[in-house]
Amino acid sequence: MEENVSGDSQVDAASATPDYDVVVVGAGMGGIYAVHKFKQEGLSVVGFEGAPDVGGVWYHNRYPGARVDVESFDYCFFFDPALYQEWKWTERYPPQPEILAYLGHVADRYDVRRHFSFNTWVSGAQWNPENNWYEVTTDTGQSVTGRFLVMTTGQLSKARKPNFPGLDDFEGEWVQTSHWPDRHVQLEGRKVGIIGTGSSGSQAITEIAKVADHLTVFQRTPNYAIPALNGPLDREKYDELAARVPEVWEGLQKLGAAANIPSFVGLSTDFTPEEQQAILEDRWRNVGGQSIVAIFLDQGISDEANALVSNFARDEVRRIVKDPEVAEILVPDAYPIGTRRLAVTSGYYETFNRDNVTLVDLLADPIETITATGIKTRDHEYDLDLIVFSLGFTAFTGSIDNANIRNEAGKQPSDNWKRGPKTYLGLTTREFPNLFLVTGPGSPSVLANMIVDNVQHVDLVAGIIAYMSDHGYTRIEPSEAAQDAWGEHVQEVARPLIRYRTENYMVHVNKDDGSRVFMPYAGGYARYVEECKRIIANDYEGFEFA
Ligand code: FAD
Ligand code: NAP
Repeated sequence: MEENVSGDSQVDAASATPDYDVVVVGAGMGGIYAVHKFKQEGLSVVGFEGAPDVGGVWYHNRYPGARVDVESFDYCFFFDPALYQEWKWTERYPPQPEILAYLGHVADRYDVRRHFSFNTWVSGAQWNPENNWYEVTTDTGQSVTGRFLVMTTGQLSKARKPNFPGLDDFEGEWVQTSHWPDRHVQLEGRKVGIIGTGSSGSQAITEIAKVADHLTVFQRTPNYAIPALNGPLDREKYDELAARVPEVWEGLQKLGAAANIPSFVGLSTDFTPEEQQAILEDRWRNVGGQSIVAIFLDQGISDEANALVSNFARDEVRRIVKDPEVAEILVPDAYPIGTRRLAVTSGYYETFNRDNVTLVDLLADPIETITATGIKTRDHEYDLDLIVFSLGFTAFTGSIDNANIRNEAGKQPSDNWKRGPKTYLGLTTREFPNLFLVTGPGSPSVLANMIVDNVQHVDLVAGIIAYMSDHGYTRIEPSEAAQDAWGEHVQEVARPLIRYRTENYMVHVNKDDGSRVFMPYAGGYARYVEECKRIIANDYEGFEFA
């Protein structure tokens, strides 16, 4: 990479030629594919990544138990059939080290690493309206110019920092699941505490309990944890798919979540109560994972239909957890199932039957402070050697804000997003020419298989750049009308959903009047793809070119 950002990267203003066609920020799966794709298109490209290597989420979230909840058949790249054919996944839901190894392999196979500066955070990106390019600066003092700024910074990459009083006084060690250190973190023989029981926390809890001397789980809102039913990869099925990769990719483009999740059986009202129970039993025992959100067609919009599934999940907790008091604390009764992302785990509730695990209900006994020796709640004090924070992310907007992108008027995108993000297709935002927010708010993003999302968006950007080049355009931004109409459409498809009313990191709530902006596009990945195709066919309708 260093060869790319060299002395000649300083722009000779008179030449009016930028250093690069494209600057890519972030080397997760989106950034890896973006660099490969833009290179293929004959564009000059440079990338910056704050971490020491490629991988993104799968680099940073190396906590014990981290694994994907989309099946490995679907959670991979399809752009090169040979890549799909040669890679050997081992499990139905591969663990983090295997996904990280895969992304490293892809980066090497397509010679992507060379284009990235690692350990380098983009700290500023200033639009220059005279030259129609961004001046991108980094925390290491680098400065480059690029015609297009492609943010593959991820929707879940800015972690919420722990800000509990007393943390500085803690004499033990503390770590975050979202930035788990790239070294051995000692769990054996230690008293470990974990705060946060979302998807990450529940995966980590299940594994940490197996090795720690004692694990204390500090739970605020109980979450739904669904059995993954993980197992070895079905090699025969994989090989069958590998023989027809382009067709499999096309198939994914027609699916609501860009992943092959067993489909809905019908409306809940199509079945008798006995049949409903049998269907639920079958899903829980034989399929598991994210298929639980796709059983009855009406479970996302009807409270009654949803209650069938939610109550089944709640009864499962009572069935598995032996101590009824502990079970009642774990029963997820704060919100209906599927209105926040499900945790997909192997043996989460069983963990609370172990002698070395204690559950603390923070709703009944909140944390007051962290002390030198552990955590003090209102009523108790817990001695700990290690505290694990698993507090989630500033999703969608966090990493965009961090990059400090400024337009001609000195504004950041978030200056226009005070009442919720405003985008066209979740990819572009008005007043910020030539800026692309890959898998951004207003696109299917976290509601779909994100490797597929990333590829679809990067391909869309590549198409736009080629179109601009063909027509001699140097500047693109969405029209106000198109952005407003898209924003309204995103809300329109989300409004009937129960999850629109649930407190949830996918919803921006305006505190003054309670109005809501649902951030990902809930109309389904397939519908989104069709809309993109229509827009392309209509000469990129909704965009203004200059
Ligand atoms: P990321 O992987 O987040 O990569 C973004 C990169 O940008 C990071 O490496 C970051 O360091 C870098 N970056 C950010 N800001 C800057 C800056 N200013 N300068 C330089 N570099 C910067 N999705 C699924 O579809 N299925 C799953 O099962 C699934 N499991 C997940 C499990 C966990 C623990 C988490 C956190 C997320 C999971 N996701 C899952 C969502 C996940 O975000 C995507 O699947 C995917 O990995 C995102 O890839 P990305 O390239 O878009 O972003
Ligand atoms: P999350 O779902 O937002 O969970 C954060 C947890 O921290 C919640 O339990 C939250 O409790 C708790 N918390 C936050 N602040 C707290 C405080 N001050 N005191 C006590 N508890 C606090 O975050 P995540 O678990 O990292 O998951 C984020 C997303 O990453 C998921 O939705 C999913 O998209 C993805 N992910 C997927 C997988 C997978 O299976 N493949 C695994 C991990 C992550 P409250 O609910 O009360 O706020």
